[in-house]
Amino acid sequence: MSNSISVLTELLQIFPYWRPQMYFKASLTALSHAIEDQILAGSGYPLVIASFQKERFYRQEAQRYRRIAQKTNQVYVLTVPEIDFKNSSELYEKIAFESTDSLVQEWNLIVIAQDYASCLVCQERIGINHNDTYNNVDSAMDNSRRFDGIWTFDRQVSQHAADTLLRRILTYRPELKTKIKQARQEYLPVTILKQREENLKQKEINNSTWDCPDRYPEPFVQRLVSYLQAGQYELLKANRSLASKEHKERLINSVTSAIRRSLDPEEILHLAVQKLGEGLGGCRCLVYRCQETDSTVTIQHEFLSAGITSLKGKTWPLHNNPLFQEVIELRDALMVEDANNDPRIFNKIKSNSDLKSLQNLIIKCSISSWLLVPILYRGRLLGMLELHHCGPNPADWRDEDVALVNAITTQIGVALIQAEAYANLQDLNKQLEALDHTRSNLVAITGHELRTPLSTIQICLESLATEPDMSPELRQVMLNTALQDTERMCKLVQDFLTLSQLESGRVKWHTEPLNLAECVELSLSNVRSRNRNSNLPNIKNLVTSELPLIQVDGEWLVELLAKLLDNACKFTSSKGNVTIEVNSTDSNSLEVTVADTGRGIEPNCLETVFDRFYQEEGALRRSTGGTGLGLAICRQIVQGWGGKIWAESEGKDLGSQFHFTVPIFLKTTPCKTNKKTSSTKTSK
Ligand code: ADP
Repeated sequence: MSNSISVLTELLQIFPYWRPQMYFKASLTALSHAIEDQILAGSGYPLVIASFQKERFYRQEAQRYRRIAQKTNQVYVLTVPEIDFKNSSELYEKIAFESTDSLVQEWNLIVIAQDYASCLVCQERIGINHNDTYNNVDSAMDNSRRFDGIWTFDRQVSQHAADTLLRRILTYRPELKTKIKQARQEYLPVTILKQREENLKQKEINNSTWDCPDRYPEPFVQRLVSYLQAGQYELLKANRSLASKEHKERLINSVTSAIRRSLDPEEILHLAVQKLGEGLGGCRCLVYRCQETDSTVTIQHEFLSAGITSLKGKTWPLHNNPLFQEVIELRDALMVEDANNDPRIFNKIKSNSDLKSLQNLIIKCSISSWLLVPILYRGRLLGMLELHHCGPNPADWRDEDVALVNAITTQIGVALIQAEAYANLQDLNKQLEALDHTRSNLVAITGHELRTPLSTIQICLESLATEPDMSPELRQVMLNTALQDTERMCKLVQDFLTLSQLESGRVKWHTEPLNLAECVELSLSNVRSRNRNSNLPNIKNLVTSELPLIQVDGEWLVELLAKLLDNACKFTSSKGNVTIEVNSTDSNSLEVTVADTGRGIEPNCLETVFDRFYQEEGALRRSTGGTGLGLAICRQIVQGWGGKIWAESEGKDLGSQFHFTVPIFLKTTPCKTNKKTSSTKTSK
């Protein structure tokens, strides 16, 4: 039953010289109300036929039609039922047409009275593209719906439109045959049918021979409608700009709130590229971290629309890309509308292999328009955001699109800096934890190393003071013990001060040409005198005086050698051996080795033995005394002259070797004669 041809099309077949005009919905509402008001104000009994696209539109006007029905009994209202609209003949005739009928897209209002006629026959433009993405703001944009149609006071045209609509009404409500016949007799001349056929025939012959009747309403009314249309157009433009602003704000908010939730730079980039890609609707969107000096970058984060080639995991040129370089210089976004004809890339005179590979890349990745926006934070380049348009025609990016992407990259920059600050904070936390650990170690060492000898000293002194009858031998033992422990305490305090002095960089090195063999002898005699009463292992000194002179601070070298020899003796039984020898590795330095056959070091501890307070047994279980600071001091001394120190061992009970390098005195080596401040020699 439903019709597929619109009333407008039928009318244009009869009047082919008529050109439909575009009307906004708001203009049609105003026109319809004006026509309806004319009926209400006029006299006589006009024929009124109105078709609405939806029942809800009819409802808004139902009250008017009830009033119109009081003026005439020839009122026909058509619409597609939604709630309770149905065929009926109460105050006026209601005609419920099918949802498949072309009337669903039409806005028709025909009035034929004795002294006037008016005809509004329009058809909505379906699926029109407003050429932007901001038009989905339903209610605000409803008035911008557009129709094509005819609006005229021409009686003939109005009669033909009425005729067409009456035919439609009959197909839905055949029982109205008599009433419609009456209407025809009263409002439509008998000639209308004949004329309709003639018109159609004539159109086939030559429609340009037709005279154009006075088809427009009077100029004043016409002018009013033009103003209305212009106002509507302005409103539409304002709405669009508002919608675009709102869209922009919504997109920035959604990107910002997504990326600010994360403190992981990779996640930030991933979220940003997804949100931006979805929001902007580009073909390909890339986000990557980079610095000005990077030659390439590997693409990790991208957004692709359907059918676009992925660049994930691919190496992307930066140094050889003139566009990237220009962005770095501009410190601003760069838009390339037609990448395939850009003179910076497709330059016949300047073409080289780098440009050729970039040209190939553009073709391979189908980039027709290219937008590069730097991610900056206070002028520092953190990364880049790229938008690629891959269609056959260049993209129509507008300034506001670029401003939008710029605003988003600012947010990405802030989020990345925030993540960076968080990572730094975590690093600091780790350092603090390490410091705390060191502090705990220090407390443990102090507790053990200071309290133990102090208690011993206290007991010895108390015994000496309270036991006057004590035998002279025992008195001597008490005194010796107190003295030994005092010495041990002094050593810890001394080592601690030495290390903090070395670590603070306050030591002034007094370097001079020295004979290594003499330094070794001196340190050996120090060790021997310190361990006068212990059974030392067998010490072999293989260092000869034929060696080249070395250029170091002698006092610190003797201190270093003494510490290594002390350790070697401490961790080797009296039956074992300690050897000291020198090798020449290169022309600039000598390598000194202090080796022993003692308890050895586990391979995984060869590096940590140089940490402050490292002791294999832990501070509280130590059998050999010591502070755990000796090797840390050794490393600081060697680093002071730019040398290296390291430990080797085959493992537990397989002995250890400690190696360090000393610089050879070269005739050209300048002698540093800086005097150390008196406080530098706390350990001597
Ligand atoms: P300490 O005063 O405890 O000896 P050091 O810093 O000199 O402190 O040495 C740290 C740790 O390194 C020692 O406690 C020991 O476990 C290990 N160590 C140092 N030298 C040797 C060595 N020659 N043989 C075996 N272990 C050693």
